[in-house]
Amino acid sequence: MSTEAEQAKPKNSEPLGDWITIPFNKPYLSGSETEYITQAVNSAKISGDGQFTKKCHQFFEQKYGFQKCLLTTSCTDALEMAAILINTQEGDEIIAPSYTFVSTVNAFVLRGAKIVFADTEPGFPNIDVAKLEALITPRTKAIVPVHYAGAACDMDALMALAEKYNLYVIEDAAQAVDSFYKGRPLGSIGHLAAFSFHETKNIICGEGGMLVINDPKFNERAEIIREKGTNRSKFYRGEIDKYGWVDIGSSFLPSEIIAAFLFAQLENLDKIQNKRKAIWQKYYEGLAPLRGEINLPDIPDYATNNAHMFYVVTKDLDQRSALISWLRQHEILPVFHYLSLHKSEFYTSKHDGRDLPYSDYYTECLVRMPFYYDLELSEVELITGLIREFFEKEKVASPAASTASKS
Ligand SMILES: *Cc1c(COP(=O)(O)O)cnc(C)c1O
Repeated sequence: MSTEAEQAKPKNSEPLGDWITIPFNKPYLSGSETEYITQAVNSAKISGDGQFTKKCHQFFEQKYGFQKCLLTTSCTDALEMAAILINTQEGDEIIAPSYTFVSTVNAFVLRGAKIVFADTEPGFPNIDVAKLEALITPRTKAIVPVHYAGAACDMDALMALAEKYNLYVIEDAAQAVDSFYKGRPLGSIGHLAAFSFHETKNIICGEGGMLVINDPKFNERAEIIREKGTNRSKFYRGEIDKYGWVDIGSSFLPSEIIAAFLFAQLENLDKIQNKRKAIWQKYYEGLAPLRGEINLPDIPDYATNNAHMFYVVTKDLDQRSALISWLRQHEILPVFHYLSLHKSEFYTSKHDGRDLPYSDYYTECLVRMPFYYDLELSEVELITGLIREFFEKEKVASPAASTASKS
């Protein structure tokens, strides 16, 4: 399996024309990142949980009303904290989509759980909530929905199911910053939620993440797990006079250098989001004439669009490969992801054998277009023009094959 970064490397480094290379991603810099990092360094407190970490926590708690936030070194780590917090053990079953990044489920596998993979909705690459009840057994401990492309899963139906069977819900909100479900911020609905600030997300700090705790019963233990299993956080607040080893844990907190970078981004969140939404709209309008030939992202009515990504879904794998190579010939570098986890080298022998056709469908047919703050709207026009040209040529080559299958 090649990573997104590897895919984004042009196969042929020779320029093929006067085209400007358009990469898949470019990290956005607000300009104050290095200034804040300098401030952190000069404050002589560069380990975790200093002023910048506090500012980041406050930002999220105030803007979205999250009960408690804890910055982590990645979303992967926030998910690992969640797995520990709900006492995931050998024999537990965790329901999660197969069409997702490995970290969604690896966190639970690390604690000995079995993953029961769920299929994806036909019309949008989110977990198919209507099919979840059949997967619940007495061993089920939690459901981990992923808000794909930052668009909400059907959380009312999912939470009702969780309540009926007494299950935890952990939102993988890695892509879902500043996005909403029926007016409620994503990350505020499940018992716990995990965000990512990896450089490919909307708001970045290189590598970084955040655990959101919505059920206060987890507050105290989360601080302990994040501080290597010690009650150091309580000690720093002066609540106890010495600290020691009280639980399992790890080093899940980022340094102040990371938090300083992140805070510079957060101050520009609205600006970033506005630009990304304009890019998304430009893609959507440019590709709307192809409706029927390709599937475009149809955000469900109950979800907002946080413009995390723009993707198209081709009719089959061959068409996707041809579209990708056409764009690459023009030095535009789209990427595809994910390879269904139930068919991964690591999990295929552990999977119960059920077919997950829509997970496979998106695995084979979804392709993500270049998407980053500094992408010019004129470049988006160039890309959408090339995609339209590709489908014109397809029609000429095989007129019968011009209808898109939603399978
Ligand atoms: C990016 C991503 C992750 C991992 O985030 P990191 O911060 O890199 O650990 C997990 N789940 C999903 C759905 C993601 O998109």
